[in-house]
Amino acid sequence: MTRKRRVTVVVPVYNEGDNIPHFTRAVKEALGALPYDYEILFVDDGSREESRRVLRETERSEARVHALFLSRNYGHQAALTCGLDHAEGDAVITMDGDMQHPPALLPQLLALWEQGYEIVQTIRQTTEGVSLFKRLTSKYYYKFLNLISEVPVQPGGSDFRLMDREAVLAFRRYREHDRFIRGLVGAMGFRQVQVPFIAPERYAGTSKFSLKKMAKFALDGILGNSILPLRISFYIGVLSLFVSLGLLAHVFFEEAMGATVAGWSTLMVCLSFFGGTQLMVLGVLGEYVGRIFREVKGRPIYLVEREREEHAPQAGA
Ligand code: UDP
Ligand code: MG
Repeated sequence: MTRKRRVTVVVPVYNEGDNIPHFTRAVKEALGALPYDYEILFVDDGSREESRRVLRETERSEARVHALFLSRNYGHQAALTCGLDHAEGDAVITMDGDMQHPPALLPQLLALWEQGYEIVQTIRQTTEGVSLFKRLTSKYYYKFLNLISEVPVQPGGSDFRLMDREAVLAFRRYREHDRFIRGLVGAMGFRQVQVPFIAPERYAGTSKFSLKKMAKFALDGILGNSILPLRISFYIGVLSLFVSLGLLAHVFFEEAMGATVAGWSTLMVCLSFFGGTQLMVLGVLGEYVGRIFREVKGRPIYLVEREREEHAPQAGA
């Protein structure tokens, strides 16, 4: 008899103590009847409430549950990376632990995997109860990102996806720090298929993505996938050169007319225009330099404080 194929469900969690038991039950319900040897691998991203205690208890009572603890909060993308680095399944599914990535969809993702797709990417159509601000910024962000990105990035693409082991092994070779995983995976190729879904509201707790975290993530998507901002800075530089040449002509003209005292406003306009342009271009450069700095240091993307606990072999297993 061939062995059952293994499936690892990777779940980054940050202060999700109230969600973990409910989520675990929902995954068991979705996968229990399917012929897979599945496990749930939680990656605790430095939670400060009772998540770790809940995870320890769940790990003890549920043979299929494992948990890794990171040494501090590294962010969703680093926690996902850690999970993908440690997942041993023939298929690995990454999803959020707050029920916004419905476990009921798991059988459908696995069915597509069985059909031979190596990456099954879910596409969030809408999120119930999300603010108009988040919906609009997300929509136009992806439009803009696709305009400038070197690889297409699916609008509404979430980090709820199934990856075949081959794709996971390939993913592990990407070691950049400021990562935007949905862009990385989109660029990896393989046989990909998309599954639309509607994200319900969170089961418990509140979103762990502050505006600051969202802004950082949005910038990672742009600067990690494109050097167009650098090129645009160059064009702005060229443009301002032309403007300054025009202004120079004007200065000569005023000089010839003998009206040199009247130059104050021209001077102020020039100063602020070129000063501003230079600062902006320098800022863009600085962003890339900062990223290079982080890469050359080559620090680990995350540190694991506690590895998964091995369960005693189950009777009959
Ligand atoms: N998360 C994480 N580290 C963080 C922030 C979030 O591991 O620094 C986890 C969080 O616990 C959840 C998933 O990432 O399982 C998605 O976060 P959240 O639901 O807060 O994001 P939203 O759905 O609001 O975009
Ligand atoms: Mg969520």
